Amino acid sequence: MSEPESWSPCPAGELSQLQETLHQQRAKLRARRRFLIASSSALAATGGMVALTLIPSSPPTPVKLTPVSCREAHDLMTAYLAGTLKSDAKRSSIQAHLDRCPGCKRLYEANA
Ligand SMILES: [Zn+2]
Repeated sequence: MSEPESWSPCPAGELSQLQETLHQQRAKLRARRRFLIASSSALAATGGMVALTLIPSSPPTPVKLTPVSCREAHDLMTAYLAGTLKSDAKRSSIQAHLDRCPGCKRLYEANA
C-alpha cells in the first residue's frame, strides 16, 4: 500500500501541539461543565429554599373581602392595573367587584 503523493508527514511538533490544544479545549469544556453543574445545583438549592419559605406553615386565612363601591374601584384601578396595590385584601376586593360589575370590568379591560 503506497501513500498518495499529496500526503506529507506532519511537521515535527505540530501533532503534539494539536494534541495540546485539544487537551486544553477539553479541559476548558470540563471546567465549564463543572461550573454549570455547580451553579445549577446551587440554583436548585436556592430554589428549594425559596420554595420552602413560600410554603406557609399553616393554611392561609382566607382574605376578608370588603365590598368596594364603583368609586373606590375606580380610585384603586390605576394601582391595581399597575400592580402596585400593596394590600391583598384590596386587590381581592377589586377583583370581586370586577367579577360582578360589568361597568367596572369594561373600564378595567379598556385599561388593561
Ligand atoms: Zn363597579
